[in-house]
Amino acid sequence: MTNTAYPQSYYAASANPAPARPALHGEVETDVCVIGAGYTGLSSALFLLESGFKVTVLEAAKVGFGASGRNGGQIVNSYSRDIDVIERTVGPQQAQLMGRMAFEGGRIIRERVAQYQIQCDLKDGGVFAAITGKQMSHLESQKKLWERYGHTQLELMDQRRIREVVACDQYIGGMLDMSGGHIHPLNLALGEAAAVESLGGVIYEQSAAIRIDRGANPVVYTEHGKVRAKFIIVAGNAYLGNLVPELAAKSMPCGTQVITTEPLSEELASTLLPQDYCVEDCNYLLDYYRLSGDKRLIFGGGVVYGARDPANIEAIIRPKMLKAFPQLKDVKIDYAWTGNFLLTLSRLPQVGRLGDNIYYSQGCSGHGVTYTHLAGKVLAEALRGQAERFDAFAGLPHYPFPGGQLLRTPLTALGAWYYTLRDKLGF
Ligand SMILES: Cc1cc2nc3c(=O)[nH]c(=O)nc-3n(C[C@H](O)[C@H](O)[C@H](O)COP(=O)(O)OP(=O)(O)OC[C@H]3O[C@@H](n4cnc5c(N)ncnc54)[C@H](O)[C@@H]3O)c2cc1C
Repeated sequence: MTNTAYPQSYYAASANPAPARPALHGEVETDVCVIGAGYTGLSSALFLLESGFKVTVLEAAKVGFGASGRNGGQIVNSYSRDIDVIERTVGPQQAQLMGRMAFEGGRIIRERVAQYQIQCDLKDGGVFAAITGKQMSHLESQKKLWERYGHTQLELMDQRRIREVVACDQYIGGMLDMSGGHIHPLNLALGEAAAVESLGGVIYEQSAAIRIDRGANPVVYTEHGKVRAKFIIVAGNAYLGNLVPELAAKSMPCGTQVITTEPLSEELASTLLPQDYCVEDCNYLLDYYRLSGDKRLIFGGGVVYGARDPANIEAIIRPKMLKAFPQLKDVKIDYAWTGNFLLTLSRLPQVGRLGDNIYYSQGCSGHGVTYTHLAGKVLAEALRGQAERFDAFAGLPHYPFPGGQLLRTPLTALGAWYYTLRDKLGF
């Protein structure tokens, strides 16, 4: 990793004060060495500390440098592929278990925010917006599916009703999930890091793990130090590179871009999103947006397979924003940035063990704000010897992308083009 400063995002510009954390120099001994200080690593660290483990976190850049400090901030329940796909992929017992967990991540976030008094502009309410009839029928079955797993805070909306919550003419209806919502993602990560430290956990920044010696007594090496641990949790997600080659073959980093307007007038903001819900549409390559705490529109969309950084993000995303909200044509864009999430072929998380003492969770494929918080809890349970829920995830099958390292990017882009075309044609 060459550049370890935060991107010039709205989130970095409005981050709560945080201490400068030292790089690791010398040797330390710990129970668990966590690699990566995004939500997966921080949530794991918090649950482990609460269970009495000694925890050391190594972060290559800064807390929340990766997707956790750059994302759309949308608290979206369930997984990037829904429970019906899981039901078809695995046996009924495993599907039941995973279905029951699908709404837990959002609750964990709210508990963390309350327990550690994290200032991150938390708001309740998320909307899934349908552009086509097929998408609306899908939402109707999604509601029934989620209700089967006990998730009841849902409301289907017709065209008239959705216009009451979002001033966009594209939608024919949608679904409101009151246990969805939104947060300032970097401030959530910074608050969780402070919570980790308040419980005695240690976080080293600018301390990339560059090698792992596996075996009964594993050691993680950084440029200037090493950590001896009983367990290692690999939580580097799309920024991990090739540290663990077995993981790289079955996942692919992808970029997605976000822009942020200048602050809108109170009147304009309350016309666009009167209840301050966040919105994502139901397209395969979806647009997602919401208001910030200071009433800017934060709008994301698009995917760059293979995670090359686009030269002009505003030129890609602003037209999408204006298609949804032509009324913003004179509004200035103050920030534009890109970030990487990790895609798997199934779009379900890639979870498992390497030997007895190295655990990993990654690849939640675009919807990871809630899952990563759940992952931390499930990883901590596994390290405590209660691995039933961890094993439900670890049992999900994963396959390499067709085409190998060389052709996986163009082939996946081709697949996405096909699904985008189907969205456009309403199939
Ligand atoms: C632009 C964007 C918008 C998104 N919007 C949403 C959204 O609105 N809702 C939603 O649910 N999901 C969204 N996502 C996905 C979500 O943000 C991610 O799934 C989630 O944050 C992943 O968390 P993580 O901790 O697993 O990974 P990350 O947050 O990427 O953290 C990994 C960390 O590991 C560090 N690291 C990597 N390698 C090493 C190493 N060798 N040594 C030490 N440290 C290392 C990195 O520097 C990084 O800080 C979005 C993603 C992006 C990029």
